[in-house]
Amino acid sequence: MGKHLKTIAAILTITLAAVSCGVVSFTGRRQLLLFSDSEITSLSNQSYSEFMSSAKVSTDAAAVKMLKETGTRMVSALESYMNSHNMSSSLSGLSWEFQLVESEQVNAFCLPSGKIVFYEGILKYADTPDYIAVVMGHEMAHAIARHGNERMSQQSALNLIGIAASEVIGARKGSTAQSLFDIGFGLGTQAGIILPYSRKHEYEADKIGMYIMDLAGYDINAAPAFWEKMNQGKSSDSNDFLSTHPSDSKRIKALQEAIRTKPAF
Ligand SMILES: [Zn+2]
Repeated sequence: MGKHLKTIAAILTITLAAVSCGVVSFTGRRQLLLFSDSEITSLSNQSYSEFMSSAKVSTDAAAVKMLKETGTRMVSALESYMNSHNMSSSLSGLSWEFQLVESEQVNAFCLPSGKIVFYEGILKYADTPDYIAVVMGHEMAHAIARHGNERMSQQSALNLIGIAASEVIGARKGSTAQSLFDIGFGLGTQAGIILPYSRKHEYEADKIGMYIMDLAGYDINAAPAFWEKMNQGKSSDSNDFLSTHPSDSKRIKALQEAIRTKPAF
């Protein structure tokens, strides 16, 4: 990018941020959010029903039960914390659902509206309620922190460089929102090919996910232990979860540091 374009990009980003700035719950980080909750929710729900219509729901009743119990316990702990701290508005647009689908893939994802899907293959690693809570908390955190909206907004801001300011607001509506969503959450029949989040988003989701585990009474030390376990098994599987959630010693160290400095809830 040339110097001139960089300046335009910076001015545009600052301008947009001034009108459409959000604050991430728990971390207080300010973020650019150009899309409304309702836009994101409707795109998410559409994508979710397309995905579920071609997916096979797991017949492993015990595993399905464990997954739904973990999700429900974490959501209710989160909601009661948010309600008692006057932060329930940060959960607006989220309607949680937990699904286990038949597939050997080691994978899980969450759509920005709170629809969380685990593939059976990930249960080889997430084989206790605490480990399930690690994955669940991390995925919930992406939704709570509005990482999908932020990623689409950043991409949208980049796309707008060079476009007249009068077109800025119009350009983010309709088909643009749809195509930005599809790039980030391309859930076709191929199932769960979600663009990896940035490192910043991954670390933030690890931290917030661990906080939710704590609120719900799970063992937060299971979080770094889970990523170690994933790391060790990564060569033996088609581990799609690791391709979107790269695990390494830096990530595990950051999580351990987040545990040491965790506020008391
Ligand atoms: Zn993630």
